[in-house]
Amino acid sequence: MSIETLKKAVRNIPDYPIPGIQFKDITPLFQSAEHIKDLSEILYEKYKGRGITKVVGIESRGFFMGPALAIKLGAGFVPVRKPGKLPYKVIEERYTKEYGEDAIQIHEDALTPEDVVLIHDDLLATGGTMVAAYSLVRKLGVKEIYINFLIELEELKGRKHFPEEVEICSMIKYSI
Ligand code: AMP
Repeated sequence: MSIETLKKAVRNIPDYPIPGIQFKDITPLFQSAEHIKDLSEILYEKYKGRGITKVVGIESRGFFMGPALAIKLGAGFVPVRKPGKLPYKVIEERYTKEYGEDAIQIHEDALTPEDVVLIHDDLLATGGTMVAAYSLVRKLGVKEIYINFLIELEELKGRKHFPEEVEICSMIKYSI
């Protein structure tokens, strides 16, 4: 299955959750058994052989594919969550996103210096959420970090906020 076929399964919702936002709804893509199987295989082919030991998924749409990808890669899964959701000791980062302010947290013992981490989320818009997640993971002192998105809104240039040496990959791109 081609990326173009997967892209066709993403539904655009204009002016959601606020006017001016073109919301990319991935639920139709995940509704299809064939589509999620193909998506997980494309992701697995991309990241196998990199020695990834943990997939870090960002709440909440990073939890759709994150654990499935972790299982395929033989890696563990670590959630990055909104404040008040993780029960043990956490570290936190605050950030600005395409619409509104927010904060995210990770358990302070979730990663080790031996970990090779793939941070995964559904969508790159301004980059605020992933920059905060990247910063959390870096603070825990891991060996290497890869970044993956299902979707990238290229015109928002979220990539420019990351160091050049970090490999950032998005599967489905929108130019407007
Ligand atoms: P940002 O921090 O601006 O890169 O925003 C990325 C986060 O907000 C992701 O976790 C997305 O789930 C969500 N998000 C932002 N903009 C959109 C959009 N246009 N469509 C769907 N989700 C979005």
